Amino acid sequence: MKKINVKTVFVLLISCIFILSACGQGAKETGSNSSSVKTLSVGTEATFAPFEFMDKGKVSGFDVDLLNAVAKAAGYKVDIKNTGWDPMMAGIQNGSIDIGIAGITINKDRKSTYDFSNPYFESINMIVVGKDSTVENAKDLKGKKIGVQNGTTGQMAAEKLFGKNNKNISKYETSAMSFMALENGDVEAVVTDNAVANEYVKKNPDKNVKTVDDKTNFSPEYYGILFPKGSELKAKFDKALNDVLDNGTYTEIYKKWFGVEPDVEVLKSAQK
Ligand code: GLN
Repeated sequence: MKKINVKTVFVLLISCIFILSACGQGAKETGSNSSSVKTLSVGTEATFAPFEFMDKGKVSGFDVDLLNAVAKAAGYKVDIKNTGWDPMMAGIQNGSIDIGIAGITINKDRKSTYDFSNPYFESINMIVVGKDSTVENAKDLKGKKIGVQNGTTGQMAAEKLFGKNNKNISKYETSAMSFMALENGDVEAVVTDNAVANEYVKKNPDKNVKTVDDKTNFSPEYYGILFPKGSELKAKFDKALNDVLDNGTYTEIYKKWFGVEPDVEVLKSAQK
């Protein structure tokens, strides 16, 4: 009896040592792995739902889920901060921020200062007006007060139609502020990205607002992830974005936020 007990205790002891050392080993590996994964600093402007917005103190949205998936596929971690639009752009230019994501449209002008990933979302500008407005297209905005977010393609689209420095075009720091100006009656219309316009109208049934689209006067545009010019991250993130597009992760994220299937092939054919 006594002999068996000693043996049992011995076997138990050895098992424990094995289990403990295995656990220790695992923790150490995870520890060393996670410390070797670089965390990239990301800037955004989180008043642009459904792409990025603050939810219980955290930046949330389609862009956040997508960037997390793409960064993971590229072997990085990301730390996303709500810097605001201008500081995000400036931070990438001076190298204090590694990545910008905020429904940022890829265009020629920006490409002279920054690098963009391949397109990850197709967008087009849209008009938001009061429910009883007679505005049927962008040309109908002539002579009316228009709100846009400063420095965005909404501002560019309005200026293309009605001229730069047109005093009827009011520039706000965020799209959310231009929507507030519409609610206050400071402007009669807002020009912004279609998904953001649709989300605002859907989430604010009490505000008596509606969207008006105009595929003639507005042109399709594509969002890209923004990098400092010459960043080594571009090639890595382009590859990772393709992985995420091909393995169904993009589709999953898209369906979560938009409730419908994306056209991945159209997006891929927009790559140059
Ligand atoms: N897509 C627009 C642009 O890049 C608006 C982006 C935004 O306001 N976050 O100019």
